Amino acid sequence: MAASGQVANFRLPPLPTIGEIIKLFNLRAQRQLSQNFLLDLKLTDKIVRQAGKLQGAYVCEVGPGPGGITRRILNAGVAELLLIEKDPRFIPGLQMLSEAAPGRVRIALGDILRYKLDEAFPNHLVKNWEDDPPDIHIIGNLPFSVSTPLIIKWLENVSNRDGPFRYGRTQMILTFQKEIGETILFLLQRLTAGTGHKQRSRLSILSQYLCKVQSCFEIPGRAFVPKPEVDASVVRFIPLVQPKIEQPFKLVEKVVQSVFQFRRKHCHKGVRILFPEAQRLEKAEQMLMLADVDPTLPPTRLSMQHFKSLCDVYRKMCDEDPNLFAYSYRDELREKRKRERIKFEKTDEIDL
Ligand code: SAM
Repeated sequence: MAASGQVANFRLPPLPTIGEIIKLFNLRAQRQLSQNFLLDLKLTDKIVRQAGKLQGAYVCEVGPGPGGITRRILNAGVAELLLIEKDPRFIPGLQMLSEAAPGRVRIALGDILRYKLDEAFPNHLVKNWEDDPPDIHIIGNLPFSVSTPLIIKWLENVSNRDGPFRYGRTQMILTFQKEIGETILFLLQRLTAGTGHKQRSRLSILSQYLCKVQSCFEIPGRAFVPKPEVDASVVRFIPLVQPKIEQPFKLVEKVVQSVFQFRRKHCHKGVRILFPEAQRLEKAEQMLMLADVDPTLPPTRLSMQHFKSLCDVYRKMCDEDPNLFAYSYRDELREKRKRERIKFEKTDEIDL
């Protein structure tokens, strides 16, 4: 770790602009890696400021690309910055930054979905879950193509207190496609006022049962190069000391996903697919009754309390029937279709 005096006075020396870096290394954006760069210094600065005071902090940046956000993080005087980038074309430009901030930058060429953040920071940073968050921050203008699986993976990490949350309630400042940001942020209070919302989905429940989520600001699509079709939202995630649903992540995910499977229908339709066909109606009715949830409500009108009750009751049912949790509606459907196809082919042969 760098000495604190060095950190306090740190300022990057003059460097080529991000636009010049892009030209110098011929970094044409690749659509398959969701590359849309932010060149506007005011915006990159604004994103980094959302993380609060970063002097002496440890930061992981996801997908630094040509390094616009990276420079602002370094100028904030961080102790160490871990960069995880999948595209090797960016490495020479990032190395230039690393040389300009000696001993502060670690560059990892790899896929953030596979990168293990459990051991990424020094052990002395570990805090108790109940304490204030550790001085570790995750920042990223996320590649749109991986943002949903990535946030689901990190939410599971929050639930298990592993990955980057082995150190405590690590905070994240993440830039998403606006539609995904709106889904995550959909405010539960509005529901209690009785208004359903089309954006309400699995992501809003999974994010908000585990984290305090806050909207920071929006970025118009035209601020990116090349310009994407949609705007972006910057969202802050702070893991909650006490999750709003106290059940294993996989169980909550299964219940929430099933309920939202038929988002325009009554919620009992989604609850039914948690159970094998033979017991479906009876068990779904029992689950909704025990959870005190009106079966005719659409999924978008269910509150966090409803989901908590549904998960708690489903957990009890799984404890009583050890095969229940492993049951998969999709697998049953696939098997059924296969059997029907074989039956149909056989009938066809007879007809011939
Ligand atoms: N941070 C830069 C900025 O704001 O200008 C670039 C952001 S761009 C939306 C997303 C970046 O993530 C690209 O640099 C891309 O190569 C990188 N990327 C894409 N998929 C990735 C993955 N699975 N793991 C790590 N980086 C990835």
